[in-house]
Amino acid sequence: MSLLNSSPIMLDYRILNDPESEVYMKAHQRTKNYIDNKLPRSRLKYFRNKTGLTNEDGIDGLVAHLTDNAATNCIKNFFRFNDIKECEVCGVSSDKPLDRAHCNHNGVSRPLILKRAIEHYYTDVNTPVKVNEIMRKFIELHGEMPLYMLCKKCHKEYDKKNDPS
Ligand SMILES: [Zn+2]
Repeated sequence: MSLLNSSPIMLDYRILNDPESEVYMKAHQRTKNYIDNKLPRSRLKYFRNKTGLTNEDGIDGLVAHLTDNAATNCIKNFFRFNDIKECEVCGVSSDKPLDRAHCNHNGVSRPLILKRAIEHYYTDVNTPVKVNEIMRKFIELHGEMPLYMLCKKCHKEYDKKNDPS
């Protein structure tokens, strides 16, 4: 095999959405184990924040309020797979930190997972939901799918090819 002749490799991102693929199963198991071990003991500030929230737009308003800052930072601070140095799709090793990308199969996205977490506690527009409870549930729900560690390039490509099937 000569590097001089190597043509660009076409990467198949569909394996990330295939529950039968090795990369899917491995990442799913890792994500689940990590949550099971770490969540009960975690003292992250989001899990200690007992602020009660209401929003006149109901669940959608609460999702909009929490998704960009609280939910994004919570994932960043909770999931630290520091031992993974190589992108799980292309295998590139980089000094820059890898991105956390959750499996987007069936259109799963951060706001959707957050919405499910809020729905778990939501009563009505006037009854506050607590930030700590929602954030814990939000992380717990991540155990249902793999969280991949991808390089920036693969993360971008993967999200572009979000498979709606
Ligand atoms: Zn990559």
